[in-house]
Amino acid sequence: MIGPDTPIRLVFVGPPGSGKGTQAKLLNEKFGVTCIGTGDLLRSAVREGTPSGKLAEPYMKRGELVPDEVVNARVNEYFSGPSPPKKFLLDGYPRNTSQAEFLDKSLKAAGISLTRVILFDVPDDELVRRLETRGTIEARPDDSIEVIRNRLKLYHETTEPVVGHYRRSGLLAEIRATGTKDDIHKQVVAILG
Ligand code: AMP
Repeated sequence: MIGPDTPIRLVFVGPPGSGKGTQAKLLNEKFGVTCIGTGDLLRSAVREGTPSGKLAEPYMKRGELVPDEVVNARVNEYFSGPSPPKKFLLDGYPRNTSQAEFLDKSLKAAGISLTRVILFDVPDDELVRRLETRGTIEARPDDSIEVIRNRLKLYHETTEPVVGHYRRSGLLAEIRATGTKDDIHKQVVAILG
């Protein structure tokens, strides 16, 4: 059971289209968890035309990672201030081992420890189907077929090593994220409780 005192300080790791954002939203609605989604933060920076949005846009269009300094600085703002979030969830960050190391330092400096890292496991062919559908519905420029393939390749090459980083620290829990939204939510809650 999750109560008001249940510590929730999470990282969601998983390929694009694995449902991290959907599950993040549910945890926010049900338990007031602050969702820090670097993809969402970057998309709003692009919309607002801020300097980091302008810098990030071409990388995002190609399905490449935005330079670490940009995302690290944005995430660090949450933890370096006077009132860091008590219950939080990082969605889509860290995406490579150097971001994971930066996050370790940033949290350590704030005296905060992660409670869990949840890996969303979905086979690639299912992801391609989901992302193509999302591309049509949400009109996301990075959900076109070539960019999808690029993002999946990048996930396997660059983000999967982050899984090893957290497995070694004993924080990793894994879910098979192929069921319904509610099934997956139940698996997430079981891990937290
Ligand atoms: P997402 O919505 O998480 O799939 O992110 C969309 C795009 O934003 C990615 O394809 C990257 O270009 C960029 N992005 C999001 N998070 C990060 C991150 N942690 N590091 C670098 N780039 C990121």
